[in-house]
Amino acid sequence: MDEGTKSRYRQRLEARLSALQAESGANAEAREIVTLDQQSVGRLSRMDAMQQQAMAKATHARREVETRQLKAALQRLSEGEYGYCEACGESIPETRLAIAPTATKCVTCARS
Ligand SMILES: [Zn+2]
Repeated sequence: MDEGTKSRYRQRLEARLSALQAESGANAEAREIVTLDQQSVGRLSRMDAMQQQAMAKATHARREVETRQLKAALQRLSEGEYGYCEACGESIPETRLAIAPTATKCVTCARS
């Protein structure tokens, strides 16, 4: 992978990372709703709030996973490991990286 390609991926990974961090900040309030409003809302609306909180937590968990994957991919980029399958060592085709820029395995190894 040449330097230009690497820097394109780095930019893409970093952009996604900062988007996630911005979303996570906006989402933090939603995760707090139930604890903050527990005394002041009625039973039904508290159930609504709890459902919303559960959804916000699930979204947060997915975001945490993606954040870790993005940071790991950036780490591999700086170590020159990016774009190589961690299982077989072959280079991961750019058609795959274009769709899944945090992929750590080639399609064959990911399937097995
Ligand atoms: Zn492989």
